[in-house]
This record gives sequence, C-alpha cells and structure tokens, in this order.
Amino acid sequence: MLVTAACAAPIASYGEQLANKLFGAKTDASDQNPMPIGTYAKGCSAGAVQLPETGPTWQAMRLSRGRNWGQPEMIAYLQDLSREAVKVGWKGLYIGDISQPRGGPMTSGHSSHQIGLDADVWMLPPSSLKLSRAQRESISSIPVRSSDQRSVTKNWTRSHALLLKAAASDARVDRIFVAAAVKIEMCKTAKASDTPWLQKIRPIYGHDTHFHVRLKCPSGASNCQTQKPTVATLSKGGNGCDETLQWWVTDYLNPPKAKPSTKPKKPTPRKRGPRDYTMADLPNQCKNVLASR
Ligand SMILES: [Zn+2]
Repeated sequence: MLVTAACAAPIASYGEQLANKLFGAKTDASDQNPMPIGTYAKGCSAGAVQLPETGPTWQAMRLSRGRNWGQPEMIAYLQDLSREAVKVGWKGLYIGDISQPRGGPMTSGHSSHQIGLDADVWMLPPSSLKLSRAQRESISSIPVRSSDQRSVTKNWTRSHALLLKAAASDARVDRIFVAAAVKIEMCKTAKASDTPWLQKIRPIYGHDTHFHVRLKCPSGASNCQTQKPTVATLSKGGNGCDETLQWWVTDYLNPPKAKPSTKPKKPTPRKRGPRDYTMADLPNQCKNVLASR
C-alpha cells in the first residue's frame, strides 16, 4: 500500500528541542511493539518493558532515575543472569541503569543505553534483596579497580570472574565493558577454550564499580544496528589479551610526549554529544516512539 504524506499520521515538530529532555520526561513505555531503533548511542526504544523493582534474585537500584526499562530481551537476560549469580554464590544481582522508558539520550550519565539493549550490573554482591527504595538510593557499589587504574582491588573475587564468564557466555550478548584491570586479571588464567566468551569482555575507561552488558540486536529487529567493529574483529579472532589491552595501563595512563609543534594551535571545537541531539539527529521512527500513547 502506498502511504502518501497527506494521509500519514501527523507527527509533532520538535524543532530545536533537546531529545534528552523530551525522552527524559517520559514515565512509561510507548504503546508499540517492542523494537530497538538505531544504534546504542543514537536511538530509542519502542515497546519497552520494566524490570520489576524487586524479584527473587535481583533488585533494581536508584529507582528515582526511572531507568529500569529495556527491550524484552534485555529484561529476560538480566533475570536469567541473576539466577546465574546465585550459582556463583551471590544472593542475586543489584541492577543499575538500563534505559529510560522510551530509551533515547539521557539528561545525565551515559552516552549509550539508548535502545534498551545496554545494562549496568553492580560489582557489589547483594547483602540483601529486601532493600527499601531509600536504601537503594543511598548505598553504593564497590570499586573492583584500583584508583591508579592498574590493578584490581581486594573487592575482586573469583565469584566476580565466574559471574562475568556466565554473563559473556550467553549468545544474546554482543560485548561486556569492564575496567581494563579487570580484563587483565581475567587474562592471567585464560585458556584456549575461554576465547569465545573472553573475546566479548572489552576494556574501557571507568567501569570500576559495575560492568556494562550490551546485547546484540534481537533477530528480526530490522531497525536496530549491532555495533561494528565486532569483538572478533577488534581482537583479531583472539581473546583480546593482547597489546591493545596493555595500552590501557601504559600509553593510556602515560601518553608519550608529542613532538613540540611550531604551528600555532587551533582551538578544537567541542564535539557534539548525545546531550546536544535534537530529534533530527535520531532515526525518524523515534518521533513515533515519543508521540505514542
Ligand atoms: Zn553502562
């Protein structure tokens, strides 16, 4: 059927309004079929579902932020992972930010987490799964990476390594971001058979108190783009325990001095980030996600 512009549903014009303000104001999911739209750092989330605030093996943290929403695949994955956590000796999981009810750019924090397929999981093993809302605002996770970024702390345990292995072994997972020191620690005991899952554990700055799970686009999610390059490409088919990992504790921390330049320095313009996006920067379908009941 040919749909002309004249008979298409009218869509509000959002002009120069910031997308993070528009999406940040939504308190419930769009009344649409589930669909992650766009890319992890430039998109939105149709038909999201809410992770129940408390379950038998998890609690959602920082409820005031309203970020315990995600695509159904992500919510199911987190519930499954919380049961894996019990197998490594934890009571379950404390789950941090997933996405806003309709995804999109956020007013604070993350640049990704926009399409309902990213989630932060606390490194703090739960002491109780009966925390009140107020307790979930006030307690903090624990750093498993030292403040000089070079090693893990005494908070890092074998159960953390087993949990990350379980998390990354799931076929739904595209990659998991951890502090470089965490991956370096996991590489110390790596065997050849670990390659398929260890390849998915990727070093990044920050992430000292949580790990960040990113799922692949679910099959049939035609409006969703899985991240490129793939983890296989990034690690050249290996486990990623290589010089690109060591870079995080060498040149990243102590950048080699650049040769003095005789040319006068041009001021570099500030890079536009997700908090600068208007609706025109996001995939067109995100207007429908915003406008939906
Ligand atoms: Zn994250």
